Amino acid sequence: MKTILVINAGSSSLKYQLIDIESEAVLAKGLCERIGIDGKLTYKPTDGEKFSKEAPMPTHQEAIELVLGVLTDEKIGVIKNMEDVAAVGHRVLHGGPNFTASALVTDECIAAIEEVIPLGPLHNPANLMGINACRKAMPNTPQVAVFDTAWGMSMEQKTFQYALPYEVYEKYSVRRYGFHGTSHMFVTGEAIKRLGREGDPDVKVITCHLGNGSSVSCSKGGKCVDTSMGLTPLEGLPMGTRCGSIDPAIVPFLMDKMNLSIKEMDTLMNKKSGMLGISGVSSDFRDLWAAKEAGNERAALALDMFAQGVKRYIGSYAAELNGVDCIVFTAGVGENDQAMRGLIMENMEYLGIDFDFEKNLAAPKGEEIVLSKPGSKVKVMVLPTNEELAIARDTAAIAL
Ligand code: ADP
Repeated sequence: MKTILVINAGSSSLKYQLIDIESEAVLAKGLCERIGIDGKLTYKPTDGEKFSKEAPMPTHQEAIELVLGVLTDEKIGVIKNMEDVAAVGHRVLHGGPNFTASALVTDECIAAIEEVIPLGPLHNPANLMGINACRKAMPNTPQVAVFDTAWGMSMEQKTFQYALPYEVYEKYSVRRYGFHGTSHMFVTGEAIKRLGREGDPDVKVITCHLGNGSSVSCSKGGKCVDTSMGLTPLEGLPMGTRCGSIDPAIVPFLMDKMNLSIKEMDTLMNKKSGMLGISGVSSDFRDLWAAKEAGNERAALALDMFAQGVKRYIGSYAAELNGVDCIVFTAGVGENDQAMRGLIMENMEYLGIDFDFEKNLAAPKGEEIVLSKPGSKVKVMVLPTNEELAIARDTAAIAL
């Protein structure tokens, strides 16, 4: 059996999935938590019982060794030995200007990821810990880094450039990168397959990745043309706790009025804003709908603002692309929240969208479904995202 181990390393956690290359089936998945504190391993083979144990994990190294231990365990493991892992795919948040695609991990690749730590100060060091731990634990297994920013690297300069002094771009690599790239790439590719237009350079798709963090992206011929997140994941839509795009002059204004430090301002925009900040209730869309139902006007406002934000992007991207063939909803909200999809799709006939509101309301959660009516010029669909599978596919393509 040949498998790909997919790793998503955080500063104190490490998520993993083992995927069979041939069938693309998930054989097992799980999580190491509280790395550097005490340590807990969770493991769930697809065909077996969930297993968890407390185990010391001073670093990511011990965590990955424990993962390899359960995966190859005689009783509960799903592979015989380490040779069954053909390659490891790592999710890496920021590739900066250095990476336009996934890359085989070498010393040079690691140095290039280190170089862009200032652009992803929270995630890149954690991603590197995962990579280094795997290189030590499995020195003969190829490793591939899959960047969340690579999707956005096909944007033209007029699209990714901010209208700041040009030196800011040259000196500090300040530009639009975009995030959720692996997800946008995956669902765009799947949508093009469903349309039967693989290889067509003109196929135009808008993908709405709506979750706790949300972004909208558009593509032509399967290549990103524009995307709503920017230098960081703060730009674009209002999100669970992030403000999204605001007048930049609000930043110095509020820092002055509220006497906030840089860090406090950053926290206000990233953790206290968005759905949570507007509603004062929650960042979770389920809570917001319940609050709206109970008459909470601010929860209703937050939901309306979110829908309005997505509409704005769909409209502007349709203008940028000169039309759109397909709109995809994906991620937690996109796949599950029928009411939000309905709100977004209201009054969009002008674009050639004939949305089936009844079918949408009755749609099962988290499942692939076409929601536009048969004659609709634009096809609207829900496609569940699968970032791990996208990482596994890229890893296999590069490493094997
Ligand atoms: P993340 O950005 O953390 O990966 P997800 O894509 O998992 O987020 O989306 C999580 C969000 O999806 C939750 O905050 C919640 O608001 C929303 N969500 C999940 N299930 C439902 C549901 N059944 N109805 C409405 N919203 C849902």
